[in-house]
Amino acid sequence: MIEEILANLYKIEIPLPESPLKALNSYVIKNSERNLIIDTGWNQEECMNAMQTGLKELGVDLRKTDFFITHLHADHLGLVSNLITDTSKIYFNQPDADRLKAGFLWDDFVSFARLNGYPEKEVQAVGRSHPGLKFRSKENPVFHTLKEGDPISIGDYAFRCVATPGHSWGHLCLYEPGKKIFVAGDHILNDITPNIQLWSDEWNPLKEYLASLEKVYELDIELVLPGHRTIFRNYRERIRELRHHHEMRFDEIISILGKRSQNAFRVASQMSWDIVYDSWDVFPVSQKWFAIGEAIAHLKYLEEKGIIRREMRGKKRVFSLNSNHAI
Ligand SMILES: [Zn+2]
Repeated sequence: MIEEILANLYKIEIPLPESPLKALNSYVIKNSERNLIIDTGWNQEECMNAMQTGLKELGVDLRKTDFFITHLHADHLGLVSNLITDTSKIYFNQPDADRLKAGFLWDDFVSFARLNGYPEKEVQAVGRSHPGLKFRSKENPVFHTLKEGDPISIGDYAFRCVATPGHSWGHLCLYEPGKKIFVAGDHILNDITPNIQLWSDEWNPLKEYLASLEKVYELDIELVLPGHRTIFRNYRERIRELRHHHEMRFDEIISILGKRSQNAFRVASQMSWDIVYDSWDVFPVSQKWFAIGEAIAHLKYLEEKGIIRREMRGKKRVFSLNSNHAI
């Protein structure tokens, strides 16, 4: 499904079967010298078919095409290795490139999940069903890395990179100040809340995410082109909503920990999630995994703020309210 957004700028909808995200928005900017494709979809047949059909309809020659990938998640990066030709450049960010280079250390995720109370049998099931594992890029391609402020020009479009860490280590957006267009990746979405997860102790993604939201709030934008769902204009209102969403999450976690000290898995099971399942127990394992990662990101933020603390109880990590914040 192709939509013309602006002159020479198109959206191809790439389906993500069985994912609550439904589809990825891949943007194509056509130009007589070089075309640019922004984000690609999973490394999987339905994604490849949709991309090939779309590119054929648009008359895009992959031999004259470069790629910009907003971040390392498989729904954005996964398919790129199947599309590149000898002359293609893949623009990407250094922090996410470093992560990929270090390898996908599934064992580290698993031990962190166990530490946070994830049941053993479910950990094994996640390894089999996680879309990020199943549909990742078949190889680590060579990246041309960009950073905050770096320019990319294609035809009439003169973009500059805006670093928006949070959803991933080095998430990069593109801003076109003359046309007031913002290519948002998964930094701001209109219909769903970007998932901010944490699976290690080494950073505080939510702190970075909230700072990135403030940075984008200050830009002058007329049209946001997000990685999923609908294109939108009211970005400041949406940023206020996202900020509010995380404040509500903090309050929810404080009230859950007000009842008793508990591990992240237990905390996540009592939080409200906006996907439609009757109970926490019947959440698909991969959705549970995302939910726990998100709970851990919020717990980390509250811990760094001094509102909660963590300690080991046996082999598990539990969180408690600090006494000055007890309800
Ligand atoms: Zn995405």
